[in-house]
Formats: sequence, structure tokens, C-alpha cells
Amino acid sequence: MHEMSICESILSVIERQAAAQEFSRVRRVRLEIGPLAGVELQALRFSFDVVTRDSIAEGAALEIIDMPITAWCMPCARSVEVRQRYDACPRCGSHQVQITGGEELRIKDMEVD
Ligand SMILES: [Zn+2]
Repeated sequence: MHEMSICESILSVIERQAAAQEFSRVRRVRLEIGPLAGVELQALRFSFDVVTRDSIAEGAALEIIDMPITAWCMPCARSVEVRQRYDACPRCGSHQVQITGGEELRIKDMEVD
């Protein structure tokens, strides 16, 4: 399950920050995840609980912030929001759009003690 390895890297980021900033307990982790990141949220939550067991993030609440899929429309020369990868521009209907966001998978912030 690839969510497991995602959570392992999240935990190693947390542990590195814990060492640098000298906190000993993580209460809450907020993740920004785009729809194109290819992450199964239910599997991610499950993996997070498993991976953080006996770590400083054990029992931490996992909050997921859904990111929009954004694209740059060439005819409109502006950024627009689309619903999936090969959607046309919602403003002008053009297919000359390039995905610019929606693949995020990152820690936004965390609440620590
Ligand atoms: Zn457009």
C-alpha cells in the first residue's frame, strides 16, 4: 500500500522537525492534499495511525485540507479551477489548459507541545 510509505515519510519529516525545534508531542497534523496526488484518504488515515504508533505523533489528529485542481488557461491568460485533469476551461471552454495545481501532498502545519 503506497499510503503506508507516504506516512513513513511524513513521520520522518515530523521527527526531523521535532529534533530541530525540540518538541516532544504532536497533537495535530494538517496535510494539504490535491485530488491528483493519487492518495486514498481512508487508507492514508489508517496508515497514519499504524505508522505513528509508538512515535511522538501517536494519537495525533490528522486533518486533511482538500486542495483544488487549478490550471492555466492560455486563451483566458489566467488561472482557473477545473474538476479533473482533462477538463476544458470553465470560462471559455478551451482545452488549451495546463494543470498547475492539484498534485500537492504536503504538511501544512502541525500543533505540537
Ligand atoms: Zn479559458
